[in-house]
Amino acid sequence: MTFRTLDDAAKANGGLAGKTALVRVDFNVPMEGGKVTDDTRLRVALPTIQRLRDAGARVALLAHFDRPKGKVVPAMSLQPVVDDLERLLGAPVRFASDCVGEEAKAMIADLDIGGVVLLENVRFHAGEEANAPDFAAQLAELGDLYVNDAFSAAHRAHASTEGLARLLPAYAGESMRRELDALDAALGNPQKPVLGIVGGSKVSSKLDLLQNLVGKLDRLAIGGGMANTFLHAQGVDVGGSLCEKDLADTARAILAEAEAKGCEILLPIDVVIATDVKPGAETRTVLAREPIGDDEKILDAGPLTVEKLIKAMALSRTLIWNGPLGVFEVPPFDAATVKAARAAAQLAKAGALVAVAGGGDTVAALHHAGVADDMTFVSTAGGAFLEWMEGKPLPGVEALRRA
Ligand code: ADP
Ligand code: MG
Repeated sequence: MTFRTLDDAAKANGGLAGKTALVRVDFNVPMEGGKVTDDTRLRVALPTIQRLRDAGARVALLAHFDRPKGKVVPAMSLQPVVDDLERLLGAPVRFASDCVGEEAKAMIADLDIGGVVLLENVRFHAGEEANAPDFAAQLAELGDLYVNDAFSAAHRAHASTEGLARLLPAYAGESMRRELDALDAALGNPQKPVLGIVGGSKVSSKLDLLQNLVGKLDRLAIGGGMANTFLHAQGVDVGGSLCEKDLADTARAILAEAEAKGCEILLPIDVVIATDVKPGAETRTVLAREPIGDDEKILDAGPLTVEKLIKAMALSRTLIWNGPLGVFEVPPFDAATVKAARAAAQLAKAGALVAVAGGGDTVAALHHAGVADDMTFVSTAGGAFLEWMEGKPLPGVEALRRA
């Protein structure tokens, strides 16, 4: 492991017993009318909290909620997550109405061994997003060590994700470690051959990602709306499809780069088209090279394309996937994504493929296909996952790197 983990924290001078751990978690949960509507992110934090408690540490949780932009916004308080956290943890959780200052200090000092306190939204302070040294120092006063368990916030250099890690002994929590292990297995040190699938709507939102991947993968399948731009760049008439025509040169440059680096590109060979994006719309399946009407749109990959993709999966040891192959929200344009997802999950379950996927819509599509739990790892980290796929260093992760 190239990052410091809780194993290291347990071995560091004096171990964890009696120490206070400041633990950065992602509690930016969906909420409605003051009630948590999906507690996934709370559950993700439990192994770290529990391990620290079992080791005899006191736990002070740091988190952000929503975007209060450096001001106290009562509607963005973290207080409403306390009940759910207590229920999931099976232990009391205290709440401090400010993440720094005397109240927080006193509450932490008052905790029993294994006690847990949740500190109010760090983004109520402007110093958080500014990564202000004085704010980070105020946070550091509260604990003996820092644990980052919020990979999803690690692409931001904020006080509670980066600054604080420079002031206290800093470690990756269990969930952070799991994410880093999975990402390393997918792209850092993968078993070859490695196949990538990149779909979604636009090339423009995934330029850096495509450029990084063609240098690292053995094969890259491009699907979704962005494939239309590549088809157009190759002289194919894509009719009324979503297509970024001004990026034709860029698309050709990516294809040339892939060729130079020995990355085989798989573009759709057949496509599903319709005039309307609506459930149960009348569709036609045509070869990608066939001209289509100006009122027709490419909305999904066709069966030949999916078959070729599944063959490529079978030839690979590792799959990294971001972006659906079609407009999966509107059946029947979910067909290719669902079929490919099920094939990947089956190979992963059989131990034949390390299958790692991430991205907001990708996660939704995998749930829609009913296979999110069968993949090797599904990242819910959103922006952080994409920046990592782009090959960018994530400040919150870099701060945990071994010297
Ligand atoms: P992620 O959130 O996983 O990174 P994106 O946001 O890049 O994925 O892309 C998801 C969106 O791409 C979906 O809303 C889907 O409807 C859209 N999409 C996929 N294929 C097409 C297509 N052929 N035409 C238009 N939009 C598409
Ligand atoms: Mg998206």
